[in-house]
Amino acid sequence: MKLDLRPLLAGERLLVFDYELPLEVDPEDTSSFLYGVSFPSPMKVSGEITNTAGYMRMTLTMSVNYQTECARCLKPVGGCFTLDLEKTVASRDMLSDPFDNKYDDYAIIEDGFLDMDEPLREQIEMEFPVRFLCKEDCLGLCPKCGHDLNTGDCGCSKKEIDPRLASLGPLLAKLKEEENK
Ligand SMILES: [Zn+2]
Ligand SMILES: [Zn+2]
Repeated sequence: MKLDLRPLLAGERLLVFDYELPLEVDPEDTSSFLYGVSFPSPMKVSGEITNTAGYMRMTLTMSVNYQTECARCLKPVGGCFTLDLEKTVASRDMLSDPFDNKYDDYAIIEDGFLDMDEPLREQIEMEFPVRFLCKEDCLGLCPKCGHDLNTGDCGCSKKEIDPRLASLGPLLAKLKEEENK
């Protein structure tokens, strides 16, 4: 959505907005920050921009329902992710130095409009947790048989023999035999 800021630029003091922004994740794109996550319904965006004698400040809340899987046991995990955001709203020519570090804190007005969607999508990508657990102490899956260890032990030996060392076994046994002679 593009917010029409012309009334604010003309002296209005408040703009309230409330809309829905669909978040699409390409399920094939493994490089995406949101890989493995799906959003069954659009993200809700609501907030306001206040204008205090030309100084414009935007506060907003985004919330979206997500579906993904536990990073350890792959069980489905879902919930609602909420993010609050606060930015100064300014047109490019109002910024004294566009390379200022604080530049990221600005929402930039272009021709009287504020393009919301792309910056908000980027924000979600940056802030969305990289991994979810079904519970804090999820035990995950057995690396050998894939059994869900949360439901009990599978009986697999937890001792892992490095395959590169496995061939040394018989040799070591032989050396020990020699020693004992
Ligand atoms: Zn789990
Ligand atoms: Zn097992």
